[in-house]
Amino acid sequence: MASLQVSGVTVAFGGNRALDGVGLTAESGHVTGLIGPNGAGKSTLFDVVSGLRRPSSGRVFLDGRDVTRSRPAGRSRHGLARTFQRLELFGRLSVRDNLLVAAELGPDRRRAAALVDALLTRLGLTAIADSSPDSLPTGVGRLVEVGRALAMRPKVLLLDEPAAGQDGEETERFAALLRALADEGTAVVLVEHDMGLVMSVCDQVYVLDLGKVIAVGPPDLVRHDETVLAAYLGD
Ligand code: ADP
Ligand code: MG
Repeated sequence: MASLQVSGVTVAFGGNRALDGVGLTAESGHVTGLIGPNGAGKSTLFDVVSGLRRPSSGRVFLDGRDVTRSRPAGRSRHGLARTFQRLELFGRLSVRDNLLVAAELGPDRRRAAALVDALLTRLGLTAIADSSPDSLPTGVGRLVEVGRALAMRPKVLLLDEPAAGQDGEETERFAALLRALADEGTAVVLVEHDMGLVMSVCDQVYVLDLGKVIAVGPPDLVRHDETVLAAYLGD
């Protein structure tokens, strides 16, 4: 059974269909890429999956359970966590406390402090654990957001441009982290503009353009698809 399944999702903003009958499946143990030009609908799809936006039609299933009508908190309890394209960290809390707040909402709340320490180590954030996220470079702030999502022990992890602002070495380490998370059984969905990262870590890639899925497949097939190339070149 797929960890996340989305079918027939449509969202309109006025006359503009941001999503038009979108379907997507993400499996445990896989990194599923979601790419497409700016405005394609990627972040809106994450909003629908996480329950922040109600679609006019379509369904969302987590582990086979229909959560289309569930609130965001209910979806978190069923194993969903996400990061935001625009960082949404608590600037008045330290990096550690940002993770701790999330861990205390997750299934491992009894050992939240130990879980957070392990995550800080894993993400290489221990040295800045007492800093405010506001003082950090964007690339590091994104890693903190990933840490906060991981503190909830998600089965399905949605990442919205997590590597933006990272340098080459940071991106390489991040790629290894995504593979490791998948190997531990997480279903990772990655929205990312860095094609090198997408091609190196994804098992399957969905391409969105103008609210529609225009291609699905393994990364090396998708990158040579003519419809996909045309969408990126803007014809
Ligand atoms: P992406 O993340 O792929 O860049 P978005 O999901 O942010 O795309 O946006 C998809 C489309 O929906 C765009 O045309 C965007 O302008 C529009 N859109 C997104 N959010 C809103 C909103 N809150 N109100 C009106 N239009 C929106
Ligand atoms: Mg976006």
